[in-house]
Amino acid sequence: MATRRDFLAGGLALAAGHACGQSNAVGGQRVLVVGGGWGGLTAARRLRQTAPELEVTLIEREAAFRSLPLSNAWLVGRTPEALPRQDYAIAARGLGYRYLQAEVTAIDRERRRVQAGPDTLAYDWLILAAGIRYDYAPWLGDDARAIETVRRLYPAGYVVGELEALQRKLAQFKGGVLLMTVPPGPARCPPAPYERAMMIAWWLKTRRIPGRLVLVDAGGGMQRFNRVFVERYRDQVQHLTHATVKALDPFARTLATEFDAIRFDDAIIIPPQGAADIVRQAGLLEPDAAGKPGAWAAFDPLHLHAAGDERLFLVGDLLGRASPLFGAYPKSAHMAARLGRIAADEIIARSRGKMPVQALPESVCHLYTDVDPMEAMRIDAQYRVRGDGLITQTVRQHEDPQPRGEDLVWVQGLYREMLAP
Ligand SMILES: Cc1cc2nc3c(=O)[nH]c(=O)nc-3n(C[C@H](O)[C@H](O)[C@H](O)COP(=O)(O)OP(=O)(O)OC[C@H]3O[C@@H](n4cnc5c(N)ncnc54)[C@H](O)[C@@H]3O)c2cc1C
Repeated sequence: MATRRDFLAGGLALAAGHACGQSNAVGGQRVLVVGGGWGGLTAARRLRQTAPELEVTLIEREAAFRSLPLSNAWLVGRTPEALPRQDYAIAARGLGYRYLQAEVTAIDRERRRVQAGPDTLAYDWLILAAGIRYDYAPWLGDDARAIETVRRLYPAGYVVGELEALQRKLAQFKGGVLLMTVPPGPARCPPAPYERAMMIAWWLKTRRIPGRLVLVDAGGGMQRFNRVFVERYRDQVQHLTHATVKALDPFARTLATEFDAIRFDDAIIIPPQGAADIVRQAGLLEPDAAGKPGAWAAFDPLHLHAAGDERLFLVGDLLGRASPLFGAYPKSAHMAARLGRIAADEIIARSRGKMPVQALPESVCHLYTDVDPMEAMRIDAQYRVRGDGLITQTVRQHEDPQPRGEDLVWVQGLYREMLAP
C-alpha cells in the first residue's frame, strides 16, 4: 500500500534526477509554455521528450511547484510531512527545457511575442496554462481596500501561495464562527470546499474546539457530503445551501445572504473565479450572454487552440465552454494534465507539417469524505465526440469505504508525467 511517505520519497527521487542527455534545441521552432501548474508542466515535459527538435521554455512566476490536491488534509495536519514541492529550475535542468521565472504581462498575438518581466520573447507556438483569477467584484464591487483586506485576512487557499496563511489561520482558531464560502460555478475543483469543510469539521470535533463552520454555499452541495455533515458533524457544520452573497463586509466581519445575516470571527472566503488575468489581456475571453468579454477562455474544443489563432493553445482550469451539452470541463488537476499532453501533441504534429491526431481528455478526482475512519470517493469523467461533432460527457461516482492509497498512486502517476526525467 502506498503511503504519503512513499509518495514524498517518489517526489524527492524525481527532484534529484539531473542526469538527462537531452538539451534544448537551439534554432528549432520556439514553444513558450506560460504557467507551470499541472497543465503547463505536463505539456513542457511532453514537448521536450517527444520533439527534441523544438526549443521549449517554461515561464512561471513562482520558484517552485506545489500541489493543491492533498492540501485539504494537509491543512488540518492529516499529513505529517510538508506538502510536496518541486523547484522549477531543477525540473527544467533534469528535463532539458528552459525555465524563466517571470510574470507574463502581455501577449502580442499578431507579432507572436510575449512580455515576461523585462524580457520580450518571440514564439512560434504558445501554450497558455495560467490557471484562475479571483473575481471579488460580484461580492465587493470595485472597493480596492475591501478586496485587499479579504485577500490578506481571509485567503481562499485556491492558489498555492496562500496555503501557509490558511494553515496558520486554522491553527490559531480558538472558537466562534468560522465562515467559508462556496462560490458559484464554474470554479476550480467544485468538490474541494466540501472536502475541506469535512476536514475542518473533523478537526473542530476531535480537538473539542468550541467553534462552528458556517458554509455559505451558492449551490446545493454534494449528496455524500450533505449526509456526512448532518449525520456526523451536526454540531460543527451549518450548511446554508442556495445562498447568494448579497453583501460582505470584511471590516465589520459580516456577510448577508437573501435570508441570513452572519457575523463571523474568522473566514475563508473562496470567491467567484475566472480565467487568469493574462487571458483577458490577450483578448481570449469567450463572450457572456450580453456579448461582452466573459470570465473564461474561448477555445476550439477539438484542438485546444484559441478561436482564430492556431499558434496559441489553451490548457487547464482557464478554459470556458467545451460543449453546449455539459458546459466546461471539470477544473481538475488530472484534466489539466491531460489537456497539457494533448496541446503538446497538437503542436508537435503541426510543427512537423502533419495533421494532429484528435484526442479527448478525461478527469479523475479523489476526495476524502471522512477522516476517522478514512473514507473516499472517486469521480471519473469521460468524453467522446458524437456524430454531430459535439463532445459528450459521462460522469461516474464511486464511494470507497476502505481507501487503500489509490489517490496517492494516482497523484504519483501525474507527478511522473510532469517531472520524471
Ligand atoms: C483545495 C483544492 C483541492 C484540490 N484537489 C484536487 C484533487 O484532489 N484532484 C484534482 O484533480 N484536482 C484538485 N484540485 C484542482 C487542481 O488544483 C486544479 O485543477 C489544477 O491546479 C489546474 O491546473 P492548471 O495547470 O490549469 O493551473 P495551476 O495549477 O493553477 O497552474 C497555473 C500556473 O500559472 C502560473 N501563472 C499564472 N499567471 C501567470 C503569469 N501571468 N505569468 C507567469 N506565471 C503565471 C501560476 O503561478 C501557476 O503556477 C484542487 C484544487 C484546490 C483549490
